[in-house]
Amino acid sequence: MELEPFSNRYPEENIYGILTLNIVDAAHSYGLPPWPYPVFEYYCVDPECDCRKVRLVVLAPDRSVSAFDYWWENQRFYEKWWLDKKTAKEMAWLSIDPFWVPSKHTGNLFALLQKVMDSDASYIERIKKHYAMMKG
Ligand SMILES: [Zn+2]
Repeated sequence: MELEPFSNRYPEENIYGILTLNIVDAAHSYGLPPWPYPVFEYYCVDPECDCRKVRLVVLAPDRSVSAFDYWWENQRFYEKWWLDKKTAKEMAWLSIDPFWVPSKHTGNLFALLQKVMDSDASYIERIKKHYAMMKG
């Protein structure tokens, strides 16, 4: 699964405006220092692959990065990639990228992103739109 930054193909789009605002508003309740927390979106660009996921890479003020995978379909959809249900259940929705070294902010950012994904339907719609743009 080859991932490419959304900003590579669509540099003119405001790639992190909406989520940045949400994070600034909420950061203080999650033990995060004040900072815009830009979020970079990476998508799979294989036109044959319908994985329906985004990798969100968040930059913290200490220049550390945290990476999360967001899969917006339900567990059943992903069971065709992970034959065992346990893995599919763990991977569906939001997870900390297991191949990325976590920083001291990763846990708090994960909690904050869970809240965003729970409460901001427009942000999820935007992710789906960007996914379609990257596949097209
Ligand atoms: Zn894919």
